[in-house]
Amino acid sequence: MSDLQDRVRAAVATVEDPEVPITLQDLGVVRDVRVTGGQARVVLRPTRLACPARGEMARRVHEAVRSVAPDVDVEVDWEIATWRGSDVSGRGTQVLLQIGYADPGVGASTACPFCGSPDVRSEGAFGGSVCKVPFSCRSCGSTYDALKGSTAAAAAIGGTRG
Ligand SMILES: [Zn+2]
Repeated sequence: MSDLQDRVRAAVATVEDPEVPITLQDLGVVRDVRVTGGQARVVLRPTRLACPARGEMARRVHEAVRSVAPDVDVEVDWEIATWRGSDVSGRGTQVLLQIGYADPGVGASTACPFCGSPDVRSEGAFGGSVCKVPFSCRSCGSTYDALKGSTAAAAAIGGTRG
């Protein structure tokens, strides 16, 4: 059974977030994967409780598990906990910076990921999607996003959650 659990874990680890091109694992969304008998239980922590991508995340997890273990029932549970930018793995952070997201980590600034300038402007909490806050850089003119729940986004929208 542990072989099966490893296979299911590996499959879940390949699932990409619907909005951000890194895996749910690197995003810190996958919290636990357990296979007991014919049942796989996958615990996910949503980046936002209201995130409209949750249904798609669950669908992708189901699909991934079925691809390696077609006989296993899949249950996706949502952890009611606050996702933080610091939940993103080191590898995930590198990818986010490369594709033009603000550093999601603790104490990260809103500095432009393209030129490093701190002279940036938030387009406001309601300018982006449910999961992102858009920024623009006054120095190089780039636009980029910060994930809501990350330090950068919290700074831009006054630390409010909800
Ligand atoms: Zn810039």
